[in-house]
Amino acid sequence: MTTELYKSPAIANAPADKLTAKAETCAHENTPVDTRIPLVGMGRKELAEALTEFGIEPNKVRMRTKQIFQWIYNYGVTDWDAMTNIAKGLRAQLAEKFSLNRPEIVERLVSVDGTRKYLIRMAPGIEVESVFIPAVSKTGALCVSSQVGCTLTCRFCHTGTQRLVRNLTAAEIALQVMVARDDLNEWPSSAVERKMTNIVFMGMGEPLYNTDEVAKAIDILCDCEGLSFGRRRITVSTSGVVPDIKKIGEKTQAMLAISLHACNDELRTKIMPINKKYPLADLMEACRNYPGLSNSRRITFEYVMLKDMNDSPKHAKELIRLLEGIPAKVNLIPFNPWPGSPYECSDWETIEKFADRINAAGYASPIRTPRGRDIFAACGQLKSESEKMRASERRKLEKAGKL
Ligand code: SAH
Ligand code: SF4
Repeated sequence: MTTELYKSPAIANAPADKLTAKAETCAHENTPVDTRIPLVGMGRKELAEALTEFGIEPNKVRMRTKQIFQWIYNYGVTDWDAMTNIAKGLRAQLAEKFSLNRPEIVERLVSVDGTRKYLIRMAPGIEVESVFIPAVSKTGALCVSSQVGCTLTCRFCHTGTQRLVRNLTAAEIALQVMVARDDLNEWPSSAVERKMTNIVFMGMGEPLYNTDEVAKAIDILCDCEGLSFGRRRITVSTSGVVPDIKKIGEKTQAMLAISLHACNDELRTKIMPINKKYPLADLMEACRNYPGLSNSRRITFEYVMLKDMNDSPKHAKELIRLLEGIPAKVNLIPFNPWPGSPYECSDWETIEKFADRINAAGYASPIRTPRGRDIFAACGQLKSESEKMRASERRKLEKAGKL
């Protein structure tokens, strides 16, 4: 069966063979540029600042911020005229200065299993992928990106082959959620039944190389007058940026996932070069000290099953030893191949035996059914075509030791 492709009006009428064309071919070349300030993606503080600068009287800024914040994030409105508790004249003035636009969905793919992948253009040359994975039980998760590309080069990961273009802003992270909520038709946010219940930072990039913006985005997502996600429904996944693990926990109270994938330093460094900088002992120490860690707030350890690399009984033993004393669960991810990938997925039987061993040691260890493989939306398969990184940005990161 083929996948259902696409939506954006920019290319809705394009011939079929152009539908997967890259962004350059889909640009609104003749559309006048909207020079208004985009409000969607701003947090309360920025919104208040923008309204103050616009000229709202100081004693009304708080009220107006609250109203507009709710219209944007609870009701998802894209039209100023929908804001019925703001006088018509003021609405018109606001509409001249500020836009409520969403970024363009360059491509939208729906897998045979219902997974949806969005390629979103945040700015010229800045394209990110987000993936909605519908519920198998009760939770449907949106997997969001925190960077365009990644500075790390985990050998099994497709994103790792894409150079870093830049960090995403908090607004661009929140916008991924807005776009998905539009597509799923789940406004207002306060609606009781929602398909998108969880947010996982498991898309492109390393969230803890962009900790401040990720934390700011989580504040926007969790505001109970807006998008209303519970903090325990947000998971930040890291390849092991040790110095920021505590910081993200303190700032956000989000759940933590660790991309572990190997349980001895030699193998882990081989497949995840970051392990050289932050070896396993340091990583596990940071996990033990994760704020709020308890049996009801366990850390998820992700473990990709690579044939003849990390899938033997000896490896299972190492994993059990490493996790000792940590409230943990293990997600076993069958390796998702991508063009040119250097590994193979372990056999199903091997994965099941591995899972049995981990289970027997008292850790839940579900085997993750790959979702959205047909549209390249599964773990580690994301990669956009935004390849360039500004020289200044690269220098900044080099200085900070993040390249
Ligand atoms: N950079 C962060 C967030 C990405 S999460 C991190 O590494 O944690 C994406 C998850 O998918 C990570 O656990 C990653 O290690 C895993 N992954 C990467 N490539 C994969 C592949 N080809 N098959 C299965 N899982 C993969
Ligand atoms: Fe980057 Fe995570 Fe992929 Fe590693 S697994 S290359 S850290 S996105």
